[in-house]
Formats: sequence, structure tokens, C-alpha cells
Amino acid sequence: MLTNDHGICIRAVDYSETSQVVTFFARQTGKVPVIAKGAKKQKSSFGGPIEIFSYGDIVFSDSGRDKLATLAEFEPLAGMVNYPVLSADIFALNACLFAAELVNALVNDYDPHPGLFDSLLQFIHDTSHDRSSNDEHGKILANLIVFQLVLLTEIGLCPVLDYCVNCRNRLDVRWPEVYFSSHAKGLICRDCQGAFPDKIRLTTEAAQCLADAKLLALAGEPALKNVEDILIRYITDVLGRPPKMAQYILNS
Ligand SMILES: [Zn+2]
Repeated sequence: MLTNDHGICIRAVDYSETSQVVTFFARQTGKVPVIAKGAKKQKSSFGGPIEIFSYGDIVFSDSGRDKLATLAEFEPLAGMVNYPVLSADIFALNACLFAAELVNALVNDYDPHPGLFDSLLQFIHDTSHDRSSNDEHGKILANLIVFQLVLLTEIGLCPVLDYCVNCRNRLDVRWPEVYFSSHAKGLICRDCQGAFPDKIRLTTEAAQCLADAKLLALAGEPALKNVEDILIRYITDVLGRPPKMAQYILNS
């Protein structure tokens, strides 16, 4: 059976001298690993090797899901990703690679998430088209945080970000201290923090941003880094290992 979809390449590895194994995140199908036979041949029917973030119409034959599907057609749509910007701005590139890594690690094969697909596409588009300067890195990080919150919500693992998980008191700007516990999967207030040895303290500004993502656009870099640090610790707990690209996001 042949399936048509729109897909974005979130991983591409060499399989043989001429073939690649490519993981597409496809709008209707979800994450689908395919073998792209002959992709690296000079006269490749896919227009050459398929690069990370290549986006376009895909046709693949679904071979029963316990075997790799085979890519039959790939028609790239130009203009979605501005590669020159990504290669000139290492932070922008790392942010896109991190987003792709998270989708690959956290979304199950053949589990469709059209909303998440649209978010990923938008994030990669915006990150690769915005003028890159150091001032823009805060904006990229803010968009990356929004993307991670969408991802965690889509897969049903979004932590509780607007009240204390333990006593259920709503987060308030008057809270003197705010903590986050990955084990408790959310915010912890000062009165409850003693029972959560893994808790990390976060600034009031970072806590407000987590509770209301609209504030991320106005947040300063220290608050954004505080939020990203919390998310990476939480995702590390979910995965049981740190995401590979995480160090390049926090240490930039
Ligand atoms: Zn509490």
C-alpha cells in the first residue's frame, strides 16, 4: 500500500554506499522511518541525498510496520528551510537539531500529531529565516521553549506549570520561592518543597513564563535559560538520558 503525506526529515543516516535510512515526521502519518534506496546515487530519483530538515511530499510503501517502509517518491518543496542562515548561525542550527532530536526521541512511530508537525515546521522555518544576530538568540530560545511545551502537551507529558503539584495552590507572583520537581512532574511551592529532594529552585520570572508562554516573548535571557534548564532536566528524566543536543543549547 502506498501512502502520500507531507514530511520533514528529522534524521538521515547512511545505510549503504547508495542508500539512506531517513526518518520523516509526516503530517498525517507521524514519525516514519523509511529506506531511501539509491538516494546517494548520482542519478537519484529523490534529487540527491536527503538532508536533515528537507521538507516535501513523500510517497512510501508501508510494509507492515515491523519492517522499514520504503520511500517511493520525494518531491522537495523549496524555501521552507533557509540553509545558508542555518549554516551561518550555529545556535539556530543547534536549536533546530535539538527540536528534531526531541521529536525523534519522544514521539512513537506511526503516531500522528498534525499540530506538532505544524509547530515543528513553523519553528524550523522561522529559525532559519529570521535575521541572525546575537540579539535574535533570545527569540530563538523563546520559540524553542514554546515548541517543547507543545511537544510535551501533544504526547501527554506536559508537567503541571500553574499550581503546586502537591498542595494544588495556584502559582502567584507573591510566592516567595518557586521550585520544580521532575519526579513530581511540576511546580512545587515553598511549603511543600521539603518533601521533594530532586526539586530545583527557579526564579519567579521563569515560573511565570512557564505558566504563561505568552510571557516568553518579553523575557530576558537569564529567565529563558532558567526555563530551558528546567525543561532539559525534565526531558532528561522522561528519556532516562540527556538529549544529545542539550549541551549546545544551554552552553551557548
Ligand atoms: Zn505546595
